Amino acid sequence: MIQTIQIAPPDDWHLHLRDGEALEHVVAATALNFRRAIVMPNLKPPVTTVEQAIAYKGRIHAAVEKACASGTYSPEQQAVMAKFEPLMVLYLTGATSPSEIEKAALSGVVKAVKLYPAGATTNSDAGVSDLLGQCGEVLKAMEVCGLPLLVHGEVTDPNVDVFDREAAFVDSVMKPLRKQFPNLRVVFEHITTKQAVDFVTEHSARDSQGRLLLAATITPQHLLYNRNAIFKGGLQPHWYCLPVLKREVHRQALLKAATSGLPQFFLGTDSAPHAKHLKEMSCGCAGCYSAPYAMPMYAEAFEQMGALEDSRLFEQFCSLNGPAFYGLPVNEGIYELKREPMEIPERLPFVTDSGIVPLRAGETLDWTVTRLS
Ligand SMILES: [Zn+2]
Repeated sequence: MIQTIQIAPPDDWHLHLRDGEALEHVVAATALNFRRAIVMPNLKPPVTTVEQAIAYKGRIHAAVEKACASGTYSPEQQAVMAKFEPLMVLYLTGATSPSEIEKAALSGVVKAVKLYPAGATTNSDAGVSDLLGQCGEVLKAMEVCGLPLLVHGEVTDPNVDVFDREAAFVDSVMKPLRKQFPNLRVVFEHITTKQAVDFVTEHSARDSQGRLLLAATITPQHLLYNRNAIFKGGLQPHWYCLPVLKREVHRQALLKAATSGLPQFFLGTDSAPHAKHLKEMSCGCAGCYSAPYAMPMYAEAFEQMGALEDSRLFEQFCSLNGPAFYGLPVNEGIYELKREPMEIPERLPFVTDSGIVPLRAGETLDWTVTRLS
């Protein structure tokens, strides 16, 4: 039985860091575990211009510096945190212009554009209601400059069952999108269904520069839990996220995809902090906060599949496939996990006294992060 895993430092290809005081509470956990992160732009107001993205990146760096100066972290930890690089994303709206896309592609700061179908999830009101109808010119510009479109892949039609919204999106949006914009580079974010796995697996085409045209991120909660977790012994708000957890057959398809070694699949936690009282209320928020413990959770998922003995598969998913898709170098250094129990606290400090309840609060994980470099 493997006791130690050593891989190149991982990146998080789908992350919510929020802003202001909330950002200051959560940024260190990510900076300690991930060298880079694709930072979601669904702030209020959303990050829609290159200028706003540059300013947000500055606030993230400032929050990391503040954490380093807080006296909470060792000099070694501070050195790791200082290497953290946020990769910025623009929020696609009906008003996004092709010229802003060109500016973004040249900025070196903005790495992608995010599609939120209007009303699909947290702070998505400014999103797009008809992608192909509203954003043709912009998608054309993205195709030309090779800027990836990151997709929250769920239809928002209230008549479609909540558990079927991703599968419906594959047919009603993804397939026509690929047909109309065959060279558009797309990441199907936080996939949750066998239908999404099959769609991404079948599309392994590359562009003229050899880059994959379609990829997908997968969260730890969708690899480790099916929808029973939301109802186990009563309503469990901390297991509620969007897209919602699905049936076991879908979880098995995700586990197979993550451990397949296929270059289309990579790590994206979708770690999304919400204060405890906003999760545990009559109309609770969607989102799981996993960033500090995500890597041991991914290791657990790989171990379920017997895919951890050779850590190369784990490294591909966590540290190699993402950079290859985004055309970035693999991180230097070594990230290490050891088979030692790691306890997840019941609560972590956050902007309000209620704090934040991390995913799997109070549980003990099998793996501990022992080296970050
Ligand atoms: Zn997200």
